[in-house]
Amino acid sequence: MTTKHTSMSSSVLKKLTCGTAAAALMIGLSGAPASAVGNGPDYNGNETINTSILHTYDSMAAELRKQDAKQPAMELDVIGQSVKGRDLFVAKYLSDPANPTVLFLTQQHGNEQLTTEGALEVIKHLGTGRMKDTLKNINILVVPMLNPDGAMGDVDFDLGDYLASGDRHLTRYNANNVDINRDHVAKTQPEIQALHNNVLSAYDIDYMIDLHHQGTRSAVDGKLVSGSILYPTTPDVKPEVLEGSKRLGSIVYQNVDGTGWGHLGKYAGGTANTIARNGIAAEYDISTLLFEMRGMSDHSNPGSVLGQKSNGYLRQQTILTLESVIKAISDGSVETADTSFWDTLPEQEYLPNTKTDE
Ligand SMILES: [Zn+2]
Repeated sequence: MTTKHTSMSSSVLKKLTCGTAAAALMIGLSGAPASAVGNGPDYNGNETINTSILHTYDSMAAELRKQDAKQPAMELDVIGQSVKGRDLFVAKYLSDPANPTVLFLTQQHGNEQLTTEGALEVIKHLGTGRMKDTLKNINILVVPMLNPDGAMGDVDFDLGDYLASGDRHLTRYNANNVDINRDHVAKTQPEIQALHNNVLSAYDIDYMIDLHHQGTRSAVDGKLVSGSILYPTTPDVKPEVLEGSKRLGSIVYQNVDGTGWGHLGKYAGGTANTIARNGIAAEYDISTLLFEMRGMSDHSNPGSVLGQKSNGYLRQQTILTLESVIKAISDGSVETADTSFWDTLPEQEYLPNTKTDE
């Protein structure tokens, strides 16, 4: 039996009372028009895609333990184990139970790793002291690399046709060849059970961003997107939870799309509760947002992978997204974020590759 969260009211109240009038955004509002996204070349056989530059599971775990030892405000917990027995982590910054709480989740799909790279940077930044005041007014949970077996290519099926070079292949699926982001209702896989039992059911979470990567050819307004976002579209989401998701999306859109490299669209997603964006919003009343960044770290399909020339801005996109959201929740400005942009944000379309572009 699942315990539904009914205790949003206290933190909502707290957020309303601590909301500042200064809704000004503090990051990335350059006033400059969004120029063409940094169009890092696709894989065409002439660009390096080398997975060796990414964190391995072990080097990520070592970095988390190092930060845990160094940062008084951080606590690192093991929430369970993957199919192959790798510890799954949550990095926690819990300053006050009355604070609003946000969860950042990365790499349910093992071949979507730059989200984890960015999240690790954010964890490092949270320890630098300049975020000290921010941390007083927010609780943060980070679950990085929920699918470490897929990320390490340590799976019980063949990855021989995957394209990247380097020490390992990365795949979407877990070791059992299951897409764990289709398992949020049945909860058959150990990674999903760990997330639900020891994070989603264990904390009173208000907001969540589920970070992914998609293919390389999605576009809006004729330009390739750096990423696309979407709120829950399940009929089972409560209106106030949906509204929170739209406000969360507003913070992300205003901060990321205003950069020179940021160009965001509306993701075209379904209504099934088996995926995190829908199922977690419906089951726990958490205002979820899906962020699908451009290009995957490895794949058998050339149209899905993006060369490492694009790693810099995609990693930066994760950092900017997470830190903008942390600040907006902490200072209360997320409560008054303007959601009207959703009415005009174009849904992304597939842009065919041609010889003249990229
Ligand atoms: Zn994904």
